[in-house]
Amino acid sequence: MYDLIVLGAGAAGLMAVASLPRRRVLLIDHNPKPAAKIEISGGGYCNITHERLDESFYLGDPRFIRTVLNTFDNRQLLAWLQKRGLTPVKRPGGQWFCRHSAKELSTLLRESAAHADWALGREIIELFQTPRGFGVRTDRGEWHGRRVLVATGGLSYPKIGASGIGFEIARAFGHEVVAPRPALVGLTLQKEQAWMKTLAGVSVPVEVAVGRRRVAGNLLFAHKGVSGPAILDTSLYWNGGKITVDFLPGVRLKSILKSRTKSIASLLPLPRRLTRAFLEAQNIPNLPYAQLSEAQKERLSYLKSYAFAPAGTFGYTKAEVTKGGVATVGIDPLTMQSRLVEGLFFAGEVVDVTGRVGGYNFQWAFASAVTAAEAVAKC
Ligand SMILES: Cc1cc2nc3c(=O)[nH]c(=O)nc-3n(C[C@H](O)[C@H](O)[C@H](O)COP(=O)(O)OP(=O)(O)OC[C@H]3O[C@@H](n4cnc5c(N)ncnc54)[C@H](O)[C@@H]3O)c2cc1C
Repeated sequence: MYDLIVLGAGAAGLMAVASLPRRRVLLIDHNPKPAAKIEISGGGYCNITHERLDESFYLGDPRFIRTVLNTFDNRQLLAWLQKRGLTPVKRPGGQWFCRHSAKELSTLLRESAAHADWALGREIIELFQTPRGFGVRTDRGEWHGRRVLVATGGLSYPKIGASGIGFEIARAFGHEVVAPRPALVGLTLQKEQAWMKTLAGVSVPVEVAVGRRRVAGNLLFAHKGVSGPAILDTSLYWNGGKITVDFLPGVRLKSILKSRTKSIASLLPLPRRLTRAFLEAQNIPNLPYAQLSEAQKERLSYLKSYAFAPAGTFGYTKAEVTKGGVATVGIDPLTMQSRLVEGLFFAGEVVDVTGRVGGYNFQWAFASAVTAAEAVAKC
């Protein structure tokens, strides 16, 4: 009989175990190698957290998120890591990364969770209640514990172990699950935007309006559509419909096109390939601005507000995270315990809280895991 069974040995599951050194804990994962996602994150360096942290960087209930982040914020996370010998480095944008490799973090978490029993390579099939707590049925064995922490993540990157088991467990225990969707993911294009596909590899700073949000960053043209940090953040808030891209953020078009002799292509501060493809798609001749017709000038102004409806996303195989998940209304943010079932806890991406690009998702995984672990330690 374990004090706690942790389902999922990812960022959240490992951090929860690491925070409970004196408890009898079992960690179950079907991946023979725990922390697999950490090792491929942040381009192999793992963007652990961000200098600027508050609920506005997340999709989800702001009060819920604030409460959990207050329990274990970016400073506490950095101090926790430093105390254990990992000193992340801050990049100019404010993101904290591992200095040499994401393996620094995965190794540290595995070592910090070494006191637990591990059941790796076991597929979690079902969680059920018993008179003294819970039973976990896997494809190879069954285990019992007084409490259970569901830290099985979302549906993104199925090739390294993602599954919907956490959502199934939550539903089976009466929890509402907000429809999961791929997020922090590239967007595919309609036929009308086929001109963008000729630009694969080009990257430009943009500002994107999506609903009432505005996100800034680089847009990367890809073979399948558009990607890059600005589009990944856009995908967090996009639920179908149009987005509007400003390809010249901070630039007043008319003020840079004053010359009566120079062609517009030579004046636009954009990669040449992008300018040419845009002018061709909009049927605008490459003349000095003053020589364009009113209709051509109007079409040129779309560079500041190019509105289009993406066809969809690149899907879960490419999505860094899953938005949606276990509805926070059914979870106590002070403990991450279910409000419906005593002894059942949730942490990490399985919960309906999703962060922007920049280390916000690991920060969430760690903060929610520490919150749950502290609550279990007090039981
Ligand atoms: C390519 C990529 C890059 C990323 N880069 C960053 C970054 O730099 N910064 C950042 O903040 N976020 C990043 N993320 C997001 C971040 O990795 C996740 O938000 C975070 O790992 C979530 O932690 P978690 O513990 O909740 O879930 P996970 O890390 O996904 O862990 C869940 C665990 O549950 C196990 N599991 C699932 N189903 C079952 C089952 N049926 N039986 C047994 N075990 C099961 C899985 O094998 C896995 O080990 C990135 C994601 C990807 C895919």
